[in-house]
Amino acid sequence: MSTLTFDLAEEQKLLVEEVRRFAEEEIRPGTADRDRGHEFPVELIAELGELGLLGMMVEERYGGPGFDPLTYCLAVEELAAVCPSISVTMSVTNSVCCWPIQRFGTEELKQRVLPELASGEAIGGFGLTEPGSGSDAGAMRTTARRDGDEWVIDGEKAWITNGAYGKYFVVLARSDARAGTKGISAFVVPSDAPGFRVGQAEEKLGLRASNTTALYFDECRIPAANLLAEEGLGFAIAMATLDHSRLGIAAQCIGIHRRALELGVAYARERVQFGKPIAQHQAIQFKLAQISTELAAAQALTYHAALREDSPDAGRHASQAKLFASEAANRACWESLQIHGGNGFCEDYEIARLYRDVRVTTIYEGTSEMQRMVIARHLTR
Ligand SMILES: Cc1cc2nc3c(=O)[nH]c(=O)nc-3n(C[C@H](O)[C@H](O)[C@H](O)COP(=O)(O)OP(=O)(O)OC[C@H]3O[C@@H](n4cnc5c(N)ncnc54)[C@H](O)[C@@H]3O)c2cc1C
Repeated sequence: MSTLTFDLAEEQKLLVEEVRRFAEEEIRPGTADRDRGHEFPVELIAELGELGLLGMMVEERYGGPGFDPLTYCLAVEELAAVCPSISVTMSVTNSVCCWPIQRFGTEELKQRVLPELASGEAIGGFGLTEPGSGSDAGAMRTTARRDGDEWVIDGEKAWITNGAYGKYFVVLARSDARAGTKGISAFVVPSDAPGFRVGQAEEKLGLRASNTTALYFDECRIPAANLLAEEGLGFAIAMATLDHSRLGIAAQCIGIHRRALELGVAYARERVQFGKPIAQHQAIQFKLAQISTELAAAQALTYHAALREDSPDAGRHASQAKLFASEAANRACWESLQIHGGNGFCEDYEIARLYRDVRVTTIYEGTSEMQRMVIARHLTR
């Protein structure tokens, strides 16, 4: 129930159809059970890799299909409309792991790591947040020191998506204690590096079929060649990565929002109160109209931002898309649940899961408050 008509290229239409078919036929049947069991779908994720969905923007010379950001967003949207947990597993591998490695890694590192990620043999993650530094990422305490041909990392990261299943993590650590955010560097840490350890999976309110853990680094040694760009550029790399990856979260919100609308319309047509379907009561019609209008606005902002990823204002566009799409999707799930009445409060109805899943979208990859700060900074610089 997409409300915005966009002229897609033939290749994009085919991809959307293929992802939609895969999501409906292969993913949807087990979604509720996996949510209930907090079960990470290892086999389905491997199949996403085989379909080329885990390294969508990886260039052909590194084993990927080399899609543009808009095509990537369309795929995230299709997956999120069926299973938001799977869409975040997929978007994190694409946008906060493959993307910064391709953009900032040395040729040797890209050849070594990207083909595995792009083929789905490995999934990836991103370690920025720590127990004491979330929105204020520059206050991180994890350290990195150079020792001959290696970097030695010590510290802890919190809330890492794909923590227990990722093979490669882009990790931010402080390599110069006195240089503030200019003393932070970015590294690729493989999960088999000595001194790397994964914490317990978090018991989350939503996205229960995704995996979120702490990561611990205890004299964790990685090759010097795993540094991205140059020493001291890590914070800039992290911010550039988030500017890009917020598009994926906005697309995830659109998928959830679309599904909330579909469920709301279907339920309103079917449920009879006061002698007619509730869809014929104007108060319910107005809710559906509002959900649909906000969906179209979220799509327009997100597709526009995806098409302008290389513009000087790309960060603002991505933050505006993520801010609006995440808050609108939360409103959509709230209203769709309201339309479902008491049934919406029951896990037998899909809207209950969406209501839980959507909640985090105004929090991760930068809270709504941080998006407003980014947007205002662009306006006043
Ligand atoms: C399911 C899940 C998956 C995640 N995956 C990852 C991941 O893969 N990698 C990763 O690095 N991180 C990940 N995160 C972490 C996520 O990005 C952080 O939770 C988020 O950035 C917010 O940080 P925080 O939780 O420490 O909140 P805090 O920064 O402590 O913020 C708490 C509240 O204060 C507000 N606030 C803070 N500072 C200000 C200010 N200056 N002005 C106004 N309000 C302010 C915030 O907006 C928020 O409302 C994940 C989190 C979750 C829940």
